Amino acid sequence: MSRGRICRIAAREIPKLAACNVAVPEGVTLRSVDPPPKPCLGIFHCGEALIRLLSPGLMAKRRDPDRAFASVPDEPCFDSVVVHELTHAAYDSAECPFVDCPATAEYAAYATQVRSLPAEAREAFEATSAFDHCVSRDYGCQLIGRIMGGAAFIDRECF
Ligand SMILES: [Zn+2]
Repeated sequence: MSRGRICRIAAREIPKLAACNVAVPEGVTLRSVDPPPKPCLGIFHCGEALIRLLSPGLMAKRRDPDRAFASVPDEPCFDSVVVHELTHAAYDSAECPFVDCPATAEYAAYATQVRSLPAEAREAFEATSAFDHCVSRDYGCQLIGRIMGGAAFIDRECF
């Protein structure tokens, strides 16, 4: 399917991530797979520089109407999952003082995912979600930069 589409999304979103202090490493592979490896929309394989995504069609079917992005249309939702997984790829090389930092990684990934949504979808999302709105505002990129630099951890810094 959508090799061209995924490449277009990555080409558009990687510079935006860079502008928000998220440096996606070179050589990350994005692969669309049906069926998916897990009951999730995308997965980043730590240390392998590989992102596996559901195809857009299957992702649209799989989406849970009760979950956070239910208010976001299928197409920007797919795009935003790409951003989420690219952020995981970028965070993979960040310093973490614990065995790993899954909460911090998820926080950064969701923050950039929400930021990447088109304004309308983002507003719809924010209206229906309890997600911490601070990260989708402008100063969010400072926090994300500190996270990526290994200077901030969610469970200590934000809550
Ligand atoms: Zn994630």
